[in-house]
Amino acid sequence: MLDVIISGGDVVTPQGVVRCDVAIAGETIAALAGPGTLPAAARVIDASGHIVMPGGIDPHVHLHHVWMKPDGTPLVTAGPEQVGRAALHGGTTTFIDFAYWRDGLSARATIETRDRDFVGKSPCDFAYHLMLHSEPPPEFAGQLAEAIQAGYPTLKIFTTNILPTRSGRMIDFGDIWEAFQVLAKEGGLGVIHAEDNDIVMHMYAKLIREGRVHFENLAQVHNALSEDLSFRRVLRLAESVPGTALYMMHVSAATGVAAIGEARAKGLPVYGETLHQYLIYSQEDYRRPNGQIYHTYPSLKSSQDQRALWDGTAQGTIHCVATDELCCTLKDKTLGSRIDDVTGGNSGVEPRLAVMYTEMVTRRGYSLPRYVDLVSSNAARIMGLYPRKGAIAVGSDADITILDPSRRGKVRAADLHETDYTPWEGHDIFAWPVTTLLRGKVMVENGQYFGRPGDGKYLARKISPEALGGVLA
Ligand SMILES: [Zn+2]
Repeated sequence: MLDVIISGGDVVTPQGVVRCDVAIAGETIAALAGPGTLPAAARVIDASGHIVMPGGIDPHVHLHHVWMKPDGTPLVTAGPEQVGRAALHGGTTTFIDFAYWRDGLSARATIETRDRDFVGKSPCDFAYHLMLHSEPPPEFAGQLAEAIQAGYPTLKIFTTNILPTRSGRMIDFGDIWEAFQVLAKEGGLGVIHAEDNDIVMHMYAKLIREGRVHFENLAQVHNALSEDLSFRRVLRLAESVPGTALYMMHVSAATGVAAIGEARAKGLPVYGETLHQYLIYSQEDYRRPNGQIYHTYPSLKSSQDQRALWDGTAQGTIHCVATDELCCTLKDKTLGSRIDDVTGGNSGVEPRLAVMYTEMVTRRGYSLPRYVDLVSSNAARIMGLYPRKGAIAVGSDADITILDPSRRGKVRAADLHETDYTPWEGHDIFAWPVTTLLRGKVMVENGQYFGRPGDGKYLARKISPEALGGVLA
């Protein structure tokens, strides 16, 4: 007998939107069939009038993440239990975080260290990008090759230390070149935070010298020229190592979109991610009360940059909209007030699907499949999770979000499960997830939470030949 039938909804499938019933047996999708044609199930969820979509996937979050407060004491952000609960309330079922590869640790030890923060704690399914820090150890290439084969195929690389008070984040170009050779050979994917460190550090020094240290000047520091130079340098390096596939994280400027577009026009397997706040806010918003809440690194940019990002989502240079989640209280988010001490990251994993529905489907007329690609399916396709994740198809995990397009209102932090503020306070909502299933288990239904900290599983990944070849399938 089937376990669950989701009946009568408009189902966003890889072939388009179809009004049908979705059958679940155990943890996976067993069938899609015409309304009322399936055999009996233990449970039927009526989805008529609703949109049935794959659970959201956020490929860029930092949970249980240590950040330094301006006074030098550590700030540990909310972990997978709290953020996962919020994510499920908002229809997101999978996230990809980072495991810090540093201090001479082996790749294996790096993964085991991060497992302590997630295993048995996350109610969402999860995976990690290995995040390379400082100078890689001599055994690096061999260990990276092994990690890719063991199901950890994405490597995060920084080309900047981001802040003048930090060191050890950026990787020099010789080491990046070596890393690209391993990625290309083993079928890995580079996930890149690209900014030009010289430009960024020059602007910090200049603005500090001139006394212009208020954080509203951040767009002058983490600027569009830096994105231009750094994206092009990284992409040129990738081009010199045939087979290097890259995912450019948190694209924030028109220059970044253009660089990705040109690389893709040459047939290079290069993908773009932007963040929800870059699509909705600009550098002008730093001047609003508690303007820090809109910030992450690199900074917000101009409204022209924002238009280019939107064009990228429509034209296929921006593939994913992530959060860069770094969940903390309003007090902690607004502690810093200078260009060199503002907290990065964002809270927003819970309203991401609803806010993007408003902006994409309601306001810009994007089709439901395009919207679903940007908040779920493309992340699965690029990150080696498809079609297990990101698809409503026979054999896929039954990670399903049911959106109610008649549920309208405004985002209120008080209604969310994330923290005590949201950057989207008062933002219009034209749909809200009413039911979220993870591998067949109902995790949230009409505001009631049924998740448990250990419900989430680690997802071993393998980047598909299509993603490595620059063709998404
Ligand atoms: Zn990040």
